[in-house]
Amino acid sequence: MTKFDAHAHSNRSDGTDDPAAVIVQAKKAGLDAVALTDHDTFSGLEEAAAAAAQVGIELVPGAELSTRVRGRSLHLLVYYPDVTNPELLELLLRIRESRTERIKEMAARMSADFPGISWEALQQSATDGKPWGRPHLADALVQNGYINDRGEAFQRILHPTSPYYVLQWSPSPEEMVEAARRSGGVPVIAHPLSGWRGQVDRSTLTKMVDAGLFGLERDHREHDGKARAMIDELAAEFGLQVTGGSDFHGTGKPNRLAENLTSPLVLDLIKEQAGL
Ligand code: AMP
Ligand code: FE
Ligand code: FE
Ligand code: ZN
Repeated sequence: MTKFDAHAHSNRSDGTDDPAAVIVQAKKAGLDAVALTDHDTFSGLEEAAAAAAQVGIELVPGAELSTRVRGRSLHLLVYYPDVTNPELLELLLRIRESRTERIKEMAARMSADFPGISWEALQQSATDGKPWGRPHLADALVQNGYINDRGEAFQRILHPTSPYYVLQWSPSPEEMVEAARRSGGVPVIAHPLSGWRGQVDRSTLTKMVDAGLFGLERDHREHDGKARAMIDELAAEFGLQVTGGSDFHGTGKPNRLAENLTSPLVLDLIKEQAGL
């Protein structure tokens, strides 16, 4: 039976390991297939594909796309998009530009209270066009000895209720579902019931389903049994598939590769919908 982990990040976004290193670890974790789903970029996929061919594991190319609804961030996983699709690339570029402006502003607000934090200091870990996120600020806080790990930063300093918090621009969820489908990709809501303000609301879900949503990520560390049962009910009601993934971020989060999986039948359906 194919062991498929449908959600993992590299250091091309906010994971801590090179794409090739993620692939090597996925193989070691006993996976047959793994999706690389970096935030708002496809830049790790080529390196990951080469590594996958070398170690003998299947790479499912993907990304985790930022969307925004009612001042809240909602993540959309996409599998097998055409990574040369101009519409999707333009959206990702706009999101990454907004991520940069947003982290610049957050760093500026933080520098009064945390003198080690500045946009200039962050540049030392930069690569061109990188999708900047709060985890990079968290790492800078750790490096400067203000806190012990990323998790601590998210509880307080980087929390959405913190005075340092700034929201980035992102397209609406239904716009992103449409763009994902037009690029040939298969869209799945990432961890739909996780997060500090709870859950995707029914009206948003309805719009996303109308736009061509494929599935809901059910099996995820941030979903308890009750959340998983609720997702099964929503999936049945809206005719959606359910997936699972680790949301691996290297040493940036406790999530381990293969801790949650997607069924091989659902992987087959994803491929079918992607025209493979
Ligand atoms: P941002 O993209 O700036 O909104 O930051 C969200 C990202 O932060 C998510 O993609 C997660 O990877 C990461 N994150 C959220 N909560 C935590 C946490 N408690 N510990 C470590 N990383 C986290
Ligand atoms: Fe992340
Ligand atoms: Fe996410
Ligand atoms: Zn993720």
